[in-house]
Amino acid sequence: MHKSILIFIIILGLYLQSAFATYMPIAWMNDPDKETSVRIVKGRHQILVDLQDLAERLDISWKQDISKQRIRLDMPVQNLIFSVGSPFVLAGNDLKQMPLPIVLYDDRFFAAIEPLISLLIEYYPGELLFDPNGPRLLVTPPRHDLFGLRYDVQPGRTRVIIPAGRPLKYVSNTLPDGSIELFFPGSRIDIKAFASKSKAGLIVKLRAEQTVIGAKVIITPDGSVSSSSVEQVKDPPLYCVEFISKTAGGLDSKAQRRLEEDKNAWALDVVVIDPGHGGKDPGAIGKTKIYEKDIVLDVGLRLKKALNDKGVKTVMTRDNDKLIPLNARGRIANKCGGKVFISLHANSCPNRKAHGIETYFLAPTKTDRAMKVAMLENSVIKYEETQDQYQELTEENFILLTMAQANFVKESERLAAIVQDRVCQGLSLRDRGVDQAGFYVLIGASMPSILFEMGFLSNREEEKRMRSKDFRQKMADRLCVAVLDFLKGAQK
Ligand SMILES: [Zn+2]
Repeated sequence: MHKSILIFIIILGLYLQSAFATYMPIAWMNDPDKETSVRIVKGRHQILVDLQDLAERLDISWKQDISKQRIRLDMPVQNLIFSVGSPFVLAGNDLKQMPLPIVLYDDRFFAAIEPLISLLIEYYPGELLFDPNGPRLLVTPPRHDLFGLRYDVQPGRTRVIIPAGRPLKYVSNTLPDGSIELFFPGSRIDIKAFASKSKAGLIVKLRAEQTVIGAKVIITPDGSVSSSSVEQVKDPPLYCVEFISKTAGGLDSKAQRRLEEDKNAWALDVVVIDPGHGGKDPGAIGKTKIYEKDIVLDVGLRLKKALNDKGVKTVMTRDNDKLIPLNARGRIANKCGGKVFISLHANSCPNRKAHGIETYFLAPTKTDRAMKVAMLENSVIKYEETQDQYQELTEENFILLTMAQANFVKESERLAAIVQDRVCQGLSLRDRGVDQAGFYVLIGASMPSILFEMGFLSNREEEKRMRSKDFRQKMADRLCVAVLDFLKGAQK
């Protein structure tokens, strides 16, 4: 049967049955006096349960996107994403299949209860049992505040992500051997769940302890780790400890030794130049049909030459007309041990009068204008083959996604201020200032990173200027001065 027909029948069935929409009791195994229930619809062969309602009963936070017909349940260790009309459930990188698709009815998501509960059992920290004879749901709520962890391992960095059943107070401490100790006063921890995941990536040992005054987690990294940080996310409550190795970017030990031999020499400060767009993505297009991708590549190549002439090493993320996925650009930068990442762009705006120079660094967007630029520059992912790898830059996952940059926000801001100053002063161009926004291209780079907008192709004057080789050379020369000043440690 065609899927859409099947869905139609189910929805019709729901509609006819909606008069019988009813509630099913939940029996709490820890508290026999507690009486709650969850909204269900009894079909002929199946009981469908209201996902949002069930999540609320179980204290699982959820987020729905009615326009995309998706709902996400934030299970403690893994999110589950359900899509209307699909029997597939996305659990991290895993795809789970249920025998029946999710249906949307009256803006609520419904799932067949038996397969749903068998799926949730894997992710719910307490215990769940569906009793078809009631029918009723038996629930044993989680006995621990901390019931597990997951690792996010990338070249040169490892994150330990510890979800919690509720927001917990914590204290973090760095021990002499570089271990990070987290202490959660008054909390209960599932020692077994932690013991089974005691190593990954840069972590050589992870230990959990329960004492009468609280729970403790001690994470010991290997000797290559040079920095660590702890972040708390409020909703959903979780704690993220990140370790970065000296070799962030996965340099082999020989290259690492070479780098360490002379840390101060500029010759070893690799500047990564990232001309935006390329290939089938032209970027902004000027009235006279000049393309952003060509202008920024030309300025990039000139900047490369200018820096090389000063003895500074450079790496280009692209040096010809090809499209590099946004998230690969940061990886390239890390691999070559970059010290500075500069993404070059030209702006465009429906208001043809808009003109001037802007520099951005990666941080949550604060202004409308910055939001528009970020949306424009991020929209290139429509040209890429796999778009699903880009998570939405909502506030809640911003911290996690941008942890690679978190250690460099200050330096990125300093770099942005210097670039903005040296270019605008040197060329007498309109200074539109430094701003912050969420750019996918800046997310993965573990170094100070900026996105530079060298003018508006939508503005007649600036378009004309950017056509001129002479202007592009001057622009590259000023960028070169800015980078050298930054490497020297200058302030704006
Ligand atoms: Zn661009």
